[in-house]
Amino acid sequence: MTQPLPEGGTTVRGEIWIDGGWREASGGRYDVEDPATGRVIGRAGAASVADVDAAARAARRAFDDGRWSGLPARERSRVLLRAAALLRDRAEDFARAESADVGKPITFARIIDVPNSADQLEYFATLVATSEGAVRETPLPVHAYTRREPHGVVGAISPFNFPLILSTSKLGPALAAGNTVVHKPAPQTPLSAQLLAELFADAGLPDGVYNLVTGPGPELGDALVRHDAVDAIAFTGSTSVGRAVARTAGDLLKPVAAELGGNAANIVFADADLDAAIGTIINAFAFNTGQFCMAGPRLLVERPVYETVLAILSEAVGQVPLGSPRDEGTLIGPLISGAHRDRVDAHVRDAVAAGARLVAGGERLDLDGGYFYAPTVLADVAQDAVVVQEEVFGPVLTVQPFDTEEEAIALANGTPYGLAAGLQTTSIARAHRVAARLQAGIVWVNDWGLLDAAVPFGGVKASGWGRESGPEALASYTHVKSVLVALKDGAR
Ligand code: NAD
Repeated sequence: MTQPLPEGGTTVRGEIWIDGGWREASGGRYDVEDPATGRVIGRAGAASVADVDAAARAARRAFDDGRWSGLPARERSRVLLRAAALLRDRAEDFARAESADVGKPITFARIIDVPNSADQLEYFATLVATSEGAVRETPLPVHAYTRREPHGVVGAISPFNFPLILSTSKLGPALAAGNTVVHKPAPQTPLSAQLLAELFADAGLPDGVYNLVTGPGPELGDALVRHDAVDAIAFTGSTSVGRAVARTAGDLLKPVAAELGGNAANIVFADADLDAAIGTIINAFAFNTGQFCMAGPRLLVERPVYETVLAILSEAVGQVPLGSPRDEGTLIGPLISGAHRDRVDAHVRDAVAAGARLVAGGERLDLDGGYFYAPTVLADVAQDAVVVQEEVFGPVLTVQPFDTEEEAIALANGTPYGLAAGLQTTSIARAHRVAARLQAGIVWVNDWGLLDAAVPFGGVKASGWGRESGPEALASYTHVKSVLVALKDGAR
């Protein structure tokens, strides 16, 4: 039985979406929680491996008969543009869904998650409509050209922290390129994907082109990666699960995009505009309650301004409005679950026990039964501390001093991850010099977290490979076929 969300606007569906319609999941239903209250807001369909099989076969049929891949690119583009327009029309439903599922402040869901997701669909719809193959000049007596062709069925696996954006950033390019999709969102956050299923149908996406299975992550995810009807995998999630996905996909020789964890350094040079930098620093580590793969939870501060920055932060972080995500003034909501809050808290306790100086926060906050945690600043942490080396995925900032540019670069690059990095400086020369040496897929200078559908995003090292957004993402959902047509009749 579905139940209304606390504020209305949408409901959790108890079924899964296969071949253009809702059907009962063979595993029954499971509870979906609102992290801001700990209350169950509805029961989603608990798919089984048999349901993954049904979804993959539906997607296979839809691909093989050409109902989508056989359409001219401009026709696919029109469907995706209609989907984007519907997403903008239904923005408030999507924002509420995202806020209720993730505990995301409604203000951010409205101004970031929903518009960015519509942008993704529009960008790839527009890009594919103007995409071209190439003619290759060759001394051979042939006319040689290339075609970009879809992989076939894409298994899309997305995480809990940005359910909508990280769905459309896969679905936009995958569908634009002509693939069909089986989507498995994180079990905690099925809502926006459920809304997307109906939205795509309303936009005119043929049945079977988008299929949605919700339920237990490891079982469904693994079944999807292994399924013989699935040709390629688009995965976003933690490094540990990403490794397992990449191992399986590698064994089966399926292309896999692995967008994994991060643990970025934010370098503040003494010449930075500190007034501007403080807001950037707080945004970088506390946005989305730190559940932000491209967060900047490692602050490196040049020694002359180290204590000044700490003093400002100790005052400022406690003033960021924290509370109910449904309150329009809230900028920090809860963590996704009680278990995750326990993990974050354990990281903080262990760091303090190992000698870190607690400058702010460091406590659970009991508000309305939700999983809130105070934004936390830990100074004087060692580079080899667990809290520096591992992704905490909470509102926790570690702060370390440095003396030279060389040292800052070494500290920034000195973890297994390589998703994002940033630096705050007024020196243009330093900005370019340091940006070039940071091991990361994206670098922000005097800002943090800005993304756009046109700008590639992804990691290096343990942050994975593959790029979302930009022409690179569209290309990754295709393979190149070369066609050589003999220019003379008869045998050679
Ligand atoms: P997760 O790795 O626990 O889960 C990600 C997805 O994988 C979920 O849908 C989950 O159900 C599924 N899954 C779980 N086990 C699986 C298995 N054995 N095989 C296949 N799929 C499986 O991650 P999460 O907790 O949902 O999200 C947080 C993580 O995602 C963080 O590490 C964060 O850095 C990362 N992330 C990365 C990016 C990026 O673009 N690089 C973006 C957002 C989040």
